[in-house]
Amino acid sequence: MDMEKHHKISIWYFFIGIWIVLILQNYLASTYVIQTIPYSDFIQKLKEDKIIEVSITERQIQGQMKSESDSGEELYFRTVRVDPETSALLDTYHVNYSASIESTFFRDLLSWIVPVLLFVGIWFFLMKRLSAQQPGFMTLGKNKSKVHKQEDVDVRFGDVAGVDEAVAELVEIIDFLKNPDKYREFGGTLPKGLLLVGPPGTGKTLLAKAVAGESQVPFFSISGSEFVELFVGMGAARVRDLFEQANENAPCIVFIDELDAIGKARGFGGVGGHDEREQTLNQLLVEMDGFDPNEGVILMAATNRPEVLDPALLRPGRFDRQVLVDRPDKQGRIAILKVHLKKIKKLGSVSVEELANMTPGMVGSDLANLVNEATLLAVRARKKTVEKEQFEEAVERIVAGLEKKNRVINVKERKIVAYHELGHALVALSIPGTDPVKKITIVPRGIAALGYTMQVPTEDRFLMTKTELLGKIASLLGGRAAEEMIFQDISTGAHNDLAKATDIARSMVTEYGMSEKAGQVYYKSEPQAMFLQAGQRQSAKGEYGDETAQLIDREIRNIIDQQYSVAMELLEQKKAVLEKAAMELLEKEKIEGSYLEKLIKEAEPPQE
Ligand code: ADP
Ligand code: ZN
Repeated sequence: MDMEKHHKISIWYFFIGIWIVLILQNYLASTYVIQTIPYSDFIQKLKEDKIIEVSITERQIQGQMKSESDSGEELYFRTVRVDPETSALLDTYHVNYSASIESTFFRDLLSWIVPVLLFVGIWFFLMKRLSAQQPGFMTLGKNKSKVHKQEDVDVRFGDVAGVDEAVAELVEIIDFLKNPDKYREFGGTLPKGLLLVGPPGTGKTLLAKAVAGESQVPFFSISGSEFVELFVGMGAARVRDLFEQANENAPCIVFIDELDAIGKARGFGGVGGHDEREQTLNQLLVEMDGFDPNEGVILMAATNRPEVLDPALLRPGRFDRQVLVDRPDKQGRIAILKVHLKKIKKLGSVSVEELANMTPGMVGSDLANLVNEATLLAVRARKKTVEKEQFEEAVERIVAGLEKKNRVINVKERKIVAYHELGHALVALSIPGTDPVKKITIVPRGIAALGYTMQVPTEDRFLMTKTELLGKIASLLGGRAAEEMIFQDISTGAHNDLAKATDIARSMVTEYGMSEKAGQVYYKSEPQAMFLQAGQRQSAKGEYGDETAQLIDREIRNIIDQQYSVAMELLEQKKAVLEKAAMELLEKEKIEGSYLEKLIKEAEPPQE
């Protein structure tokens, strides 16, 4: 890492500094000759009245004295002091004596160099910690350009597996880069910025490279954290530099990794580097507004935290196209494993499907790592070919590493998540008027949601009926209901569902006048500040009394409780479907809504 190189350089500066000081001292000392004389001589000269002047320190006396030959010349001398008692005694017996200073070099070394080194060490350690939290914090003076340019990228779409949807979105870009004239003729414009969103290691960088590789254009990349400098203005200068280089080299791909490091919403700042980031971000926005994608510069960026990005970055004309690069499901992992297994020259009989079964939750980089690790293990064990055994051991190692980072969910959790998600889906499918369920997955994504059920609205809706809202609440509660039914226990995974369901219920009571007891009254009063999230709304006092507040709370509870029972009842009826679908979901990690509908239909008794 660059950080380390930088530290080494600073330590060298430190030593060179000390060395220069030592040399200088020696030089100054040698400009005039100082004679070191025994202390007894000094006392003698003193008695002879030869000493002109002295300067006394704790252990030495330095000064000038008249020389022996009465030429009037003055000599510089130095002598080490002897304590007066000893000196007087020695004088009485006319002994010649001199003192000398013991070398205290090692003592000095211990007494100050060691603490200094210790201090410097601690300082670097802290700086490192700080810069880890705040990327780019201590990178002062590092003003060489960090833009990495790659001319002949040899990555192709074939190297990126399991992300077909993302690839499909990128094909158009390549077509443009290959035949820009075709597009110009028609006056079509390309999206300016393409944002790849997805967890780390899913192949975002690889995809961006593949776009460059497929269209045979240069690839410029820089990481967002490298933009942010200690000195205000450097990051902005670097952004300008990046776009300048890109324009000179058009057509080309510019790729900014970790966009969130610069693109964090303004006003979010921590310690230091805050103004700097703002400036860098502003410069990026200016550059983005200024360039014309039809000139052939395609800007791509990647982030795993789209939610912290400044909204300005996502506006039309900026990163207005987002491509999801998600964790692979089982089929995806099979495809990725195939890509990497091809690189092993001596592969034994290993079933890719089995490998995929062993690696739920792993992303592309984990799988690449796995294949590599297995190969190394085979070499170490002096095997002729890489066998299943090595893969199993490699999986264990990698899983242990990932578990520490909480990235792999265990078997029990997978089961809970599967039933939970199916609970949502089944309730949604059983209540008319809810949005159709497109797919259900238990591939972990993000931190909040372990799995998810994707419901697409059939049309854009402005009005919703009471029945529809109730149905929505029921399907939100379906997750927890399924957990309770199957495991007789509930987990914390439903927290977000409950918040959403409560929110809808609250709006029904206080805004839409949909509760009989509370009546057709609009209770919501105070306008809510933007930053007050749903959860805080509950504590905000309206312009109604405590009694009304209690009534509202009771009505909300009633709605939630009723819908929970509705969900529970529906699931009891469809328990067989739930069980069957859960098996399938655990096996495939992803099932289509249509498959679930089919199961439901099959289970229903034929109607006359
Ligand atoms: P990201 O940019 O999303 O963090 P990278 O593109 O840097 O991930 O991926 C790191 C490495 O992991 C790649 O070089 C590749 O070897 C492997 N990898 C990641 N995703 C995939 C994928 N979808 N297909 C094949 N290999 C992948
Ligand atoms: Zn849920």
